[in-house]
Amino acid sequence: MRLYFLGTGAGVPSKRRNVSSLCLRLEAEIGQVWMFDCGEGTQHRVLASPIRLSKLTRIFVTHLHGDHIYGLPGLLASRSFQSPERPLHVYGPSGLGDYLQATLTASGVHLTYPLNLHELHDGQRLAADGFSVHVRALNHGVTCYGYRIVEPPKPGRLRRESLEALGVRPGPLYQLVKQGKTVRLADGRVLHGPDFVDPPVRGRTVAIMGDTLPCPQTVELAADADVLVHEATYTQADAALALTHHHSTGVQAAEQAGRARVKQLILTHLSSRYEPDRERELLAEARSVFSRTELAHDFSEFIVPSAAPYHDEPVNE
Ligand SMILES: [Zn+2]
Ligand SMILES: [Zn+2]
Repeated sequence: MRLYFLGTGAGVPSKRRNVSSLCLRLEAEIGQVWMFDCGEGTQHRVLASPIRLSKLTRIFVTHLHGDHIYGLPGLLASRSFQSPERPLHVYGPSGLGDYLQATLTASGVHLTYPLNLHELHDGQRLAADGFSVHVRALNHGVTCYGYRIVEPPKPGRLRRESLEALGVRPGPLYQLVKQGKTVRLADGRVLHGPDFVDPPVRGRTVAIMGDTLPCPQTVELAADADVLVHEATYTQADAALALTHHHSTGVQAAEQAGRARVKQLILTHLSSRYEPDRERELLAEARSVFSRTELAHDFSEFIVPSAAPYHDEPVNE
């Protein structure tokens, strides 16, 4: 499970940061890539990245501001050439369907694959390939969603060495033991399945927010998450602008990460007004509040480490 940032700028593109798009790379887990937002020019970023549109199966739109959706029609059209039959699911606020229909119809686009549109509502819970996705409306002046994505738990590892030590040879019996069943051997010995299987490993949780002021829904979605992706449009010196435009500062994002007790915070959606030195300042401010904070750049990738077994305690800041 990896997070790959295609665009990390706010509002308008700059030379260093394109507008919003982020991929949750699940190729190793389920052979898929899920995209979150698709600002203008996203498909150009895809071309220069390891992301393959043929793997793209779901696109989650946070809200209908142009810097999050103007790349969608072009990317959808291009996907016909990469993956002509694989269905695509697109999720987002009410109005997304009208936007797609207007743009695709006006430009005469014929998609070769089934496009399944899902207009969402606050509080909705989705099931997708074993993952669960919880949707909450944030505070951005327009309908804007955050998503909590939870991976299914993995069954514990079979301790083959323990079975071999008892002289039990590999075979169909191993499968029964792994399933936790009680097995009687030919010589009368009884094996209790759970004695030979490690505890299950909990699924990882990633919380991806759209544009927002700090709000309780973010803390709810990000509670104990492995990673929180949060916007940080402004530095603390520009906190008044953040309030006016329904955005957050890096410090506010860090405060939310602390409240939610996440393991890692990744900041994105930075104002194009900032040069690199101001961006470093923004990151330092945020780290002074929540030390496990990183700043995303276009083409940066973050691995979400495998989760510990269930008995592990969450990390507290
Ligand atoms: Zn935005
Ligand atoms: Zn916005």
